Amino acid sequence: MEEHKLHTFGVAGSSPVPPTRIRGHLLVSAFLYQGTDGSSMEEFIARLLDLQDLDRRIDRLKADGESIPGEIAIHRRDIEGHRSRFRASEEQLISLKEEQKKLAADRAETLAKISDYKSRLLTLKSNEEYSAMLKQISHGEKLVDQIDDRILEAMYKEDEIRGELERAEKEKDRAINRSEAREQLLKKKLEEIESQLEQLQIERAQAAERVDPKHLKRYEITRESRHREVVTGIRNGACGSCLTKIPAQAAGEIKGGSTFSCPICGSFVVWTPDSSL
Ligand SMILES: [Zn+2]
Repeated sequence: MEEHKLHTFGVAGSSPVPPTRIRGHLLVSAFLYQGTDGSSMEEFIARLLDLQDLDRRIDRLKADGESIPGEIAIHRRDIEGHRSRFRASEEQLISLKEEQKKLAADRAETLAKISDYKSRLLTLKSNEEYSAMLKQISHGEKLVDQIDDRILEAMYKEDEIRGELERAEKEKDRAINRSEAREQLLKKKLEEIESQLEQLQIERAQAAERVDPKHLKRYEITRESRHREVVTGIRNGACGSCLTKIPAQAAGEIKGGSTFSCPICGSFVVWTPDSSL
C-alpha cells in the first residue's frame, strides 16, 4: 500500500524543522499517520468525511427548521393586518350609521317645528308677529335642505364604506385561507425536519463512533470553534477552509494522495474532486 503522510506545511521538505509558531498556532513536526485502531489513511479521512457530510446535512436541516417559526409569524402578522383593516372599515360604518340616525332625527324635529309654526300662523294677530313667524318657517326649511344634503352625502359615503368593507373582507378571507394553508404546510415540514434530524442524529452518533477518538476530538474542536470544513480540498493551491496558500511541494503531495494538516486552521487538506492547484 502506498505510504501516506500527514504533514504540516512547514515540514513538507526533506529536512526536519523544529516546532515553531505561525499566527499563534503551534506547528508540530510532520508525522506519519497511524490510526490507533489500525485503520488506513483513506479510512480515517473517509470516516471524517462521512461525519462531516452528516453534520452538514444536520446543519442545513436545523437552519431550515429554525426559519419556520419566523415564516409562520410573518403569515400571522399578515392576517392580523387584514383583520385590523376590516375592523377599521366596520367601525367607520358604525359611526356613519350613528350620524345618519342623528340626521334623520334632526330632520324630523325640524319638520315638526315647521309644521307647528305653520299651524300657529293662523292665530297670530299682528303683521310683525306674522312676518317673524314666516321667517322662522323659512329658516326651518333652509335647515331641512341642509340636512337633506348631508343625508345624501352620508348615503354616498355609506356606499363607499360598504365597498371598502366588502373588499377588506374578501382580502382578509383570502389571506386567512392562504396563510392557514401555508402554516399547515410549514408545520408539516417542521415535523418532517424533526424526524429527519432524529434519524440523522442516530446516524451521526454511529459515524462518530467509527472515528478514532483522537481525530474526533480534533474534528469537534475545529468544527465548534471555527465552523469550517474539517476535511477540506485544496482550492487554487490554498487550504479550502482558511484559504492559506499551501507551498507548491506540499500541494503536489496532496494531489498525490497525501493528507495535510493545515497549521493555520487545523483542517485536514486532501485532494477532492473540486480541488485545484
Ligand atoms: Zn487552513
